[in-house]
Amino acid sequence: MRQTNISIFVPHNGCPHRCTFCDQRSISGTPKAPLPEEVAAILTEQLPVLRKNETRAEIAFFGGSFTGIERGYMISLLETANRFVREYPDVYTGIRCSTRPDFINEEILDILTEHGMTAIELGAQSMNDKVLRLNERGHTAADVANAAEMIKQRGFSLGLQMMTGLYGDKPECCIETARRFIDLKADTVRIYPTVILDGTRLGELYKSGEYETFTFDDTITLCAKLLKMFGEAGIPVIRLGLHASREVEKKMLGGVYHPALRELCESRLFFDDMATEMKRLGGTDFSVYTDPANISKVTGQKKENRTRLAGLGYRFTIKPEKGTRLRIENAL
Ligand code: SF4
Repeated sequence: MRQTNISIFVPHNGCPHRCTFCDQRSISGTPKAPLPEEVAAILTEQLPVLRKNETRAEIAFFGGSFTGIERGYMISLLETANRFVREYPDVYTGIRCSTRPDFINEEILDILTEHGMTAIELGAQSMNDKVLRLNERGHTAADVANAAEMIKQRGFSLGLQMMTGLYGDKPECCIETARRFIDLKADTVRIYPTVILDGTRLGELYKSGEYETFTFDDTITLCAKLLKMFGEAGIPVIRLGLHASREVEKKMLGGVYHPALRELCESRLFFDDMATEMKRLGGTDFSVYTDPANISKVTGQKKENRTRLAGLGYRFTIKPEKGTRLRIENAL
C-alpha cells in the first residue's frame, strides 16, 4: 500500500504575523479558506481514486498556522476530517497539520487529541534566535523546543520544517538547526531553501541590495549535508524545496527554486561519497555498484558527477546492483 497526503490549504487564517519571506497566497495558490463541506467534498471525491490506486492517505491541513485559526472553524474542519478517518479507516489513516511553535499549548493539544490528529508539523525555520528575529518570526528557538517536547510527550508524530538562506542566515546556522532537530527527535523534516517573493519584506530587502540569499550551488552543497545528517539520524526528509507552482514562479525575485531540487542534492551527496571513497581506495579506475534507481544520481545531471570526478583524476563504470546504495571497487 502506498501512502500519501490529501493536502487542504487553510491560508493565513488566524495568523497575526508577517514573516519576511511569507506571501501565503502565492505559496498555497488558494486565497480562500475552505468550508467544512468543501473539505468533505474533496475527501469524498478522493475516496474512489485512492482505493483504485491502492493508496492510503493522511488528511493534511497545511498552508497557514492551523492551530491559530478561529477555534470554532478549526474544530469544524477537524470534525469533518475525523469523520472520514473513522468511516473509512482503510483509506484515511490520520490527520496532520502545520502550525507555528507558539500556537501550541496543552489546551490546543487536548483539542487535537480529541479530534484524531496524528501528526503535527512546526514551522521552526531556524534554531538561531538572531535569524528568527531578523525574519520577524515572533518566536524563539526555545519556543520551538518547548512545543516540540509537548508534541512528543503527547504521542503525536513530530514534524519540523526549516528554511535555508533567510535574511542573516549562514550555512553553519542551518547545520546547527539540523543538529537541534535531531536532538528534539523529529519524526519527519521538511527543508525549504528560501524563495524570495515579490510583495514580501525579503523582496524589499533583496531589491534594495541589503539581502542576498545563498547561491544555488551553495544551497545544493548545504542541503546535501543536511540530507546526510538526517539520513544518519534515521529521520526521513519528506520534502526538499517548494512544490512547483505557477504563482511562485511568477512572483519569484530570487532565491533557490528548482523542480528537481532533491534529486540534485542527492546527486551531490553521491558525488561527495564517491570522491571520499575513491580517495580512500586509491587508483584512478573504479567500478561503482548501485541500485538501477540511483544511476542518474550517481552520474549527475548533465553528467556533472562524472565530469567533476574526472577533474579529480577518477574514471568509473557503473554496475547495477539491486538494493545497493553505493559500493566502489578498484577496476581490475
Ligand atoms: S506565521 Fe506562517 S502564515 Fe503567518 S506570516 Fe509567518 S509564515 Fe506566513
